[in-house]
Order: sequence, then C-alpha cells, then structure tokens
Amino acid sequence: MEPFAKKSAVHGAGNSAPELLPLAAWSRFKGITAGFTGRGGGYSAPPRVSLNTALHVGDEEHAVLANRRAIAAALGWPFEAWTCAEQVHGSRVVRVTAEARGQGRLSRESAIQDADALITDEPDVLLAMYFADCVPLYFYDPEHGALGLAHAGWKGTVLNVAASTVSAMAEAYGSDPAAMYAAVGPSIGECCYEVDEAVMSRVRDVVPDDRSFHVPSSEGKSRLNLKEINKHLMIKAGILPSRIEMSGWCTSCSADLFFSHRKQRGQTGRMMSWLGKKK
Ligand SMILES: [Zn+2]
Repeated sequence: MEPFAKKSAVHGAGNSAPELLPLAAWSRFKGITAGFTGRGGGYSAPPRVSLNTALHVGDEEHAVLANRRAIAAALGWPFEAWTCAEQVHGSRVVRVTAEARGQGRLSRESAIQDADALITDEPDVLLAMYFADCVPLYFYDPEHGALGLAHAGWKGTVLNVAASTVSAMAEAYGSDPAAMYAAVGPSIGECCYEVDEAVMSRVRDVVPDDRSFHVPSSEGKSRLNLKEINKHLMIKAGILPSRIEMSGWCTSCSADLFFSHRKQRGQTGRMMSWLGKKK
C-alpha cells in the first residue's frame, strides 16, 4: 500500500486548500507528523500552479509565503515552527537547535545555509525541504525522539546523504540505526529518469551492478531507480528493511499531482517534505 496517502481532492476554482500526502504509516507514532505536499491548492501562477513552496524558483514571494502559511495551518502547526535550509545537492547534515527554529521560513538568506539534511530532537520544530523529482528521505528514532530529513537527488544519493544523516543522528543523539524507522518519499521513478554515463559512473561507486538499481535504456544511457538506491544505502547504514516505507509515486508520471523538474523542463515549482514532533 502506498505509504504517502493522497487526501481527498482539493481541485476546483477558488479552492486554495493545500494538497497534502501525509505519511500515513507514521501516524501510529505519537506526536509525529510527516508527509509531502502536492501541487494542488495554493496561490502560485503558471507555470508553478499552484502550491509552490520554494523561494528560489522565480515565483512571487507573497504567493510562496501564502502557500507556506496555508500548509502550516492545514497541518495544525504555527508557521513560526517552519525551519528550512538552503539546499545545495550536497551531503552536509545540520543539527537544528531550539534557537534555529523558524529559520528560512520568510527568506532564503535566513535559512540554514549549505545543508541537504536537517536533524533535530527539539519538539515543536517543523523541518521542511523542497523537491521536484529529487528523493525525500525521512528518519525517526523513537528511543531518543530524534528526527532527520534529507534531500537526495542523484548527487546527494551518490554522496550518500542517507548514511550521513544516520551517522549524524547516532553522534548527536545516540541513535541506534537498528531502532530507527525510515521512509523514501514521492520522487521521479525509474520509468522516467534516464541518465548518461557520467552519472552512471558515479552511481556504480555506491551500488552493485544490479537491475533493481538501474537498467540500460537508449544508447549509452540508463534509467536510474533513485528510490531503491537510497533504500539500499539506508540498509547498509544499519536500518532494518522492514522499517523502511517506500513510496510508489513517480513525480514525472503524475503531472496533475506533482511538480516535475524533468517533465516541465526546469520551469516548475517545488513540493515540500515535512517532519516534526509535537510536545
Ligand atoms: Zn514515471
């Protein structure tokens, strides 16, 4: 069953209610909220219709902030809790303290700089990251109440941001990977993600030559399964396979539901992954 459940449709003229796909499988964890936004609802104009959550894609600032506020309200969280980073397709992990709560919600300049993974054990901090095809990775350690959220495009994947996040949580909070839960969110699927040999040569450094990770396509190219590669890297980092939720959504196939950088040739908005715990 798809772990990121689409809530009832919100499409229709004048309907700005944000489209949300909560990670339903984690609703059993008390106080935890996790999920991914769709593109429906919100206030952004074409070509970012309509729930664009990112400030760096040329959208009107007031529309992005209105979208963010609407999402926070729909999640039942104060907007002041929304905390995000300036993502750079790297693998640096930053620990979010109570003092950093709210950074980046109003401007890129105030965001946590140069980070593609955020970890925290602070309650009432809503971690947010932005995506259009890249893979959102979620981590939860119930023993220490610690959370991690990471952004893995092909670059972050081959840099193993998954393992970096797990080891940063172990160091900061004493998290035991075998006691952690993880999820791989909606992102571009193997069906739609063709890459060239330059990318493949990097991919072979982190995963075996196996058809579950990549298959040959047109001449000299391959189709890459970023979700399965990240799951493999999570397992190598010590997370139990039975504790990893895998989304089946392909952001490029479901253009009515998601923004896709590939499908819309770069002219698009961003979805947001969220993760937080309440006191
Ligand atoms: Zn697809």
